[in-house]
Amino acid sequence: MDARLEAIRNTVLARNPGEAEFHQAVTEVFESLGPVHDRHPELLEAAILERLCEPERQIIFRVPWTDDSGRVQINRGFRVEFNSALGPYKGGLRFHPSVYLGIVKFLGFEQIFKNALTGMPIGGGKGGSDFDPRGRSNAEIMRFCQSFMTELYRHIGEYTDVPAGDIGVGGREIGYLFGQYKRITNRYESGVLTGKGISWGGSLVRPEATGYGTVIFTQEMLKTRGKSFDGQRVVVSGSGNVAINAIAKAQSFDASVVACSDSSGYIVDEAGIDVGLLREVKEVERGRLKDYSLRRPGVSYVEGGSVWDVDATVALPCATQNELDGDAAARLVRNGLVAVGEGANMPSTREAVAVFQDSGVLFGPGKAANAGGVATSALEMQQNASRDSWTFEHTEQRLTEIMVGIHDRCASTADEYGEPGNYVLGANIGGFVKVADAMLAQGLI
Ligand code: NDP
Repeated sequence: MDARLEAIRNTVLARNPGEAEFHQAVTEVFESLGPVHDRHPELLEAAILERLCEPERQIIFRVPWTDDSGRVQINRGFRVEFNSALGPYKGGLRFHPSVYLGIVKFLGFEQIFKNALTGMPIGGGKGGSDFDPRGRSNAEIMRFCQSFMTELYRHIGEYTDVPAGDIGVGGREIGYLFGQYKRITNRYESGVLTGKGISWGGSLVRPEATGYGTVIFTQEMLKTRGKSFDGQRVVVSGSGNVAINAIAKAQSFDASVVACSDSSGYIVDEAGIDVGLLREVKEVERGRLKDYSLRRPGVSYVEGGSVWDVDATVALPCATQNELDGDAAARLVRNGLVAVGEGANMPSTREAVAVFQDSGVLFGPGKAANAGGVATSALEMQQNASRDSWTFEHTEQRLTEIMVGIHDRCASTADEYGEPGNYVLGANIGGFVKVADAMLAQGLI
């Protein structure tokens, strides 16, 4: 890392102790940015990096609620409003027991660059709670969401901060959150949340967008080597929103998707994952992958273990951060891996990324490859602002253009900085330059 940037990075780490994922995300971005500061020393003068690493606002709040047995439960809520140089803060809410400030800050920091890469007018933010939705009844989920919004509502708004979903937050939760926001404010402010239901202000393609976009980005990477998804053997981690839609899109490109996982284990289905059955089990019944294996002949289920033990030519990590380590990366490469498209945020450890890059595997980092979700959220905001709703075909076409555009911007930036094919560098510099320019123009704020 450039020595000037390393000194700033070390100060950031010291000022934010105990936030391992945030440290990792900052380090990974800083490693790409030396050449930009050689060309533009004015960025150092203006302390752009120091400002970027300090969120504009961080909110931590108590979320009290009662469970079905009448017991009082207390969770912690977060919203980190990281950077508004390009537009209102935009980023999802994650409900998962692992959530703490360091996770929210890593996700919010990544979101700044991701949102810039989309070319849409959105800043970066993220939020969530250490609430665990698993095993909770609908009524409990609703009471939790209502309590969460009873504090959050005062910090958000269509011109201020526009949350969406992430792990543990899908259409059901967005519905309860929107209902409570409307009730408290007495305003039908569609643009305050994205990921809404289609009949009440949502956008077609938003549920599919992150997974679809990841596959479209990966397809563009494959094209640079004269390849496509056709005939690739694909392994996907996770079986949530991003994973399921990535599987569906890869199959539509004639790939053979043979494995996916949840936090309990993974399935191998050599005949190709049956997306209809997967949706039934995971989205309708909110069941476990094991149930899928019990209902389909020829499917093996492995309790625990790592889905990255399954050979693949294309890997799409779509579960969570740091799920694919250096050893798993080396094993995949040995067994013929060609490309990785990150549907999740920071799913590959820094060691894994180094293995992929050193061995010439096409590697699409999450902040570029999974930007289709937030981009389609911005399309939802556009539809809300104009009180319009677009067709599936039109919206998917917009998503495709945006993903191809992000791919090309990353590739051309990597070329410009003398590292062709380095999508990590291309994404980091491409996103950073856009935000830094806007921050310089807007003065010291
Ligand atoms: P979901 O909650 O719909 O699905 C998450 C999936 O990952 C589930 O299969 C879950 O398994 C698994 N998982 C979650 N945490 C862990 C863990 N600690 N260990 C193992 N498996 C785990 O979330 P999404 O699909 O929305 O999000 C997945 C990833 O994509 C996240 O990194 C998110 O930040 C990223 N992302 C999501 C976007 C979106 O639009 N939703 C946009 C951009 C990025 P189980 O069912 O057992 O919990």
